[in-house]
Amino acid sequence: MNLSSALFTSRVSCASVYQTASVAALCCPACGFPQEDNRQVLQPCKHLACVYDQEAAQFTFKSDDFKQRLAASKTSLSDELDGRTLSKLGYSDEMLALDLTRAGCWSRELFAFDFGIS
Ligand SMILES: [Zn+2]
Repeated sequence: MNLSSALFTSRVSCASVYQTASVAALCCPACGFPQEDNRQVLQPCKHLACVYDQEAAQFTFKSDDFKQRLAASKTSLSDELDGRTLSKLGYSDEMLALDLTRAGCWSRELFAFDFGIS
């Protein structure tokens, strides 16, 4: 039995999302606000905690709260971001992570929404 998996039981839900229309913006599941304008510039709502480019293995957006959690946790990210890593940052079932693939696009981005922010 792997002890670390017992300590960090993931409660952050992760869902894969595939968008056939590559220009359509991902909408926040909490407030419905599109996260990009029509030029695909990121327009984060208050629920968006981070956006992570899975291929480049780097963040393209971090909320202030997320930055603080990342700094405090000393979690190093050298690979894909997933629900388990988000759980290590103290997030649980109030977070929904959407692993987004767009049609005609090789990259995958993870959008993490924090429903605990009201
Ligand atoms: Zn929102």
